[in-house]
Amino acid sequence: MGRIVAVIGGGYGGAAAAKALDGDTDVILIEPKDAFVHSVGALRALVRPDWAGNIFFPYDRLLARGEVVRGRATSVDSGGVTLASGDRVDADYLVLASGSSYPFPAKMDTDVADQALERLRAASKELAGGGRVLIAGAGPVGLELAGEIRAAWPDKRVTIVDPGEQVLPGFLPELHADLHRQLRDLNIELRLDTTLLTEPPTRPGLAETFTVRTTGGDLTADIWFRCHGASANGDYLGDGKAIARTPQGKVRVTEKLNVHGHSHIYALGDITDIAEAKMAAHAMKHAEVVAANIIAQVRGEEPAAVYRPSPVPSILLPLGPAAGVGQIPTPDGPTVLPARTVAEYKGTHLLIDRFAELFGTA
Ligand SMILES: Cc1cc2nc3c(=O)[nH]c(=O)nc-3n(C[C@H](O)[C@H](O)[C@H](O)COP(=O)(O)OP(=O)(O)OC[C@H]3O[C@@H](n4cnc5c(N)ncnc54)[C@H](O)[C@@H]3O)c2cc1C
Repeated sequence: MGRIVAVIGGGYGGAAAAKALDGDTDVILIEPKDAFVHSVGALRALVRPDWAGNIFFPYDRLLARGEVVRGRATSVDSGGVTLASGDRVDADYLVLASGSSYPFPAKMDTDVADQALERLRAASKELAGGGRVLIAGAGPVGLELAGEIRAAWPDKRVTIVDPGEQVLPGFLPELHADLHRQLRDLNIELRLDTTLLTEPPTRPGLAETFTVRTTGGDLTADIWFRCHGASANGDYLGDGKAIARTPQGKVRVTEKLNVHGHSHIYALGDITDIAEAKMAAHAMKHAEVVAANIIAQVRGEEPAAVYRPSPVPSILLPLGPAAGVGQIPTPDGPTVLPARTVAEYKGTHLLIDRFAELFGTA
């Protein structure tokens, strides 16, 4: 067995894994985008087009020895990867790190950073012109987008609709109370238990007044955003015979993060079926486990690192630069953080410096 590792996808988990493997193995990172997109900052980028360039990081300084190949995997087998160009990357180990897609603007719908920046600026202009904003989906993305919009344009009316009965299920009641209080203070209307009976007639992110029927009555808005509908990026994995997947397209992994039945193929991040919230923070922890196990195998040792999801969920959810809710695990159990701590840990800077360091642009 050699020491060539092909990492498929240079998102949070793939980039971290490639960096951790660089040197101890020969890494080839396969990624269709020309720059890493720091999705954590995408919603701020929408409301602050002057700042939006900060969320893109070129890949050229990520690895000291390894190689970044710009391309899209179209199939994999135990000996390597085939790309959309027809090129072949032979490898001894594979890391499936192709993550998930999400409607714009939370994730970009182009692989070219300049085009993504253009799209963000155009959507920002549309948003600036609409006084009433409808957000479909009250998950972390919908809530965060509402907070960003109110922070940038305090006079806009923002309404979030969601069919669920509760926001952020699984978190402490104190976090829910704090969230509802902050949403009230920010004058963000949250309509739970409310379903859109038809899709709004305009495209998301386009300023044009419409009225839509919901289970809670008619709702008129000038622009809307879809904040639900993540889907795993696994088309290249075929029919699921070689790489076992769930009905939702997630890859089944062991606690060492091997794909079931494959000692030299690993998976990490949003593409996996690990029972936890899909988060960049988790993907980067998976990357440490995968890198440790591959390095052990390359050295002829038994891979021993395991990943066990935390039984306690955690979140840092900014509502604009100065507000937000948070819950973190501590030795005394889960603790809810005040808004100023959430702002200090994340909301003011959105972790830009940390990724500038990883990508060598600091
Ligand atoms: C608006 C927003 C805010 C968020 N905020 C937070 C936060 O504050 N904290 C947190 O922990 N998480 C956050 N998340 C979640 C986080 O972004 C995801 O969990 C994370 O992106 C998952 O990382 P990943 O490496 O699995 O995949 P991704 O980051 O999705 O990266 C996958 C990469 O694979 C590439 N790819 C796809 N298909 C192929 C292919 N066929 N061949 C090669 N490459 C391919 C893609 O181009 C992409 O670059 C946020 C998400 C959004 C949308």
